[in-house]
Amino acid sequence: MASERNGNNMVQLSLSRKLAILSDAAKYDASCASSGSAKRDSSQNGGIGSTEGSGICHSYAPDGRCISLLKVLLTNFCVYDCIYCVNRSSSNVQRARFSVEEVVQLTLDFYKRNYIEGLFLSSGIIRSPDYTMEEMVRVARTLRDTHRFGGYIHLKVIPNAAPELLAEAGVWADRLSTNIELPTDVSLETFAPEKKPSAIRTAMAHIEGKREESRPDGKAADGKKKPTKLAPAGQSTQMIVGADRADDAVILRRSAALYSGYGLKRVYYSAFSPIPDASSRLPLAPPPLMREHRLYQADWLMRFYGFGVEEIVSGGTDGLLDLKVDPKLAWALGNRGLFPMDVNRAAREMLLRVPGLGVRVVDRIIDARRHHRLTLADVAAMAGSIGKVRAFIEAADWTPGGLTDDAGLRGKVVTKQLELF
Ligand code: SF4
Repeated sequence: MASERNGNNMVQLSLSRKLAILSDAAKYDASCASSGSAKRDSSQNGGIGSTEGSGICHSYAPDGRCISLLKVLLTNFCVYDCIYCVNRSSSNVQRARFSVEEVVQLTLDFYKRNYIEGLFLSSGIIRSPDYTMEEMVRVARTLRDTHRFGGYIHLKVIPNAAPELLAEAGVWADRLSTNIELPTDVSLETFAPEKKPSAIRTAMAHIEGKREESRPDGKAADGKKKPTKLAPAGQSTQMIVGADRADDAVILRRSAALYSGYGLKRVYYSAFSPIPDASSRLPLAPPPLMREHRLYQADWLMRFYGFGVEEIVSGGTDGLLDLKVDPKLAWALGNRGLFPMDVNRAAREMLLRVPGLGVRVVDRIIDARRHHRLTLADVAAMAGSIGKVRAFIEAADWTPGGLTDDAGLRGKVVTKQLELF
């Protein structure tokens, strides 16, 4: 049992109680997205492996594998008072704090029991950014150096911590993430007065610089750059959606700037969820979850499909993405003059703009059409479903005729998309 100070009272907390508090407090961080895995828990029947113990979440490794992580805060004490955060200094929540040794031991115990494949560690800010970051680095260093831990480690970065600490964090962690928190500097300064937007960007820039310095010369076997030695899984960030008035255009422009300016691997979008005793400056209700989903789809279009932000938001209204249809389809419906696209001749970057055709399917089309002219059935077999695609393509035996320009096309595809839910 350890003592923790909560207000003026000293309270005794067991390790399991701390785990319950500090894993629950970590759930607001979306930087490790959960999978749709079925719940399993063998801890009651003597077996090994669990997907639902306290603090266990799911994420994706750089190679695409879904992995289970112990997701906890080192502490939910915090000297800052960000009004959107349940752990802010003025919040009336029960506080707890792990020691470095406790997090190390929990990680090793969970790992040996096959509950997890790695650790996601964040923290409220205690004493100072340097002190907090040093404690988090010590967890990762002890796991790697003392216990030869080979699992995945994702550390949150505390902006304003010393550059040497950030660089050392990258030595031990696979991934680092610095939360940008809100889409605009004005919102951040209003809602999180102790946080400085420039300090967040400086931390990101420093990490990216150090990562690039650590990258070995030459190319990997697949012709791509070799992975960096520091934080080889890259750095990411999280943005809260719907706490301020920023529209989707503002959010996506900020994301595009982060991707190009700091080489981020991922921007995570987290729909604001109302918290107890919240400030009247915050909305009472969360934004529709579909908004978060559309932002992820739009983000995907920027990173893998060659779309610019302005193209994406042109498919919506007043800076907001269309909640009824996905952003690629919304763009295609607004640019029907560019369709139909001939699957036997169109360039890869144009095929990537056809609703219903993903990157893998487009690459299979390009490969297959070297050998024979593709029919609608060929495309259907590769795409799995042709309903959304057919109005936007031509094939050896298919032309959509007036379907592409049909005034009722949006209604038809919206109905189809809704039927999927
Ligand atoms: S610094 Fe982090 S933990 Fe502390 S109040 Fe702000 S968001 Fe919450």
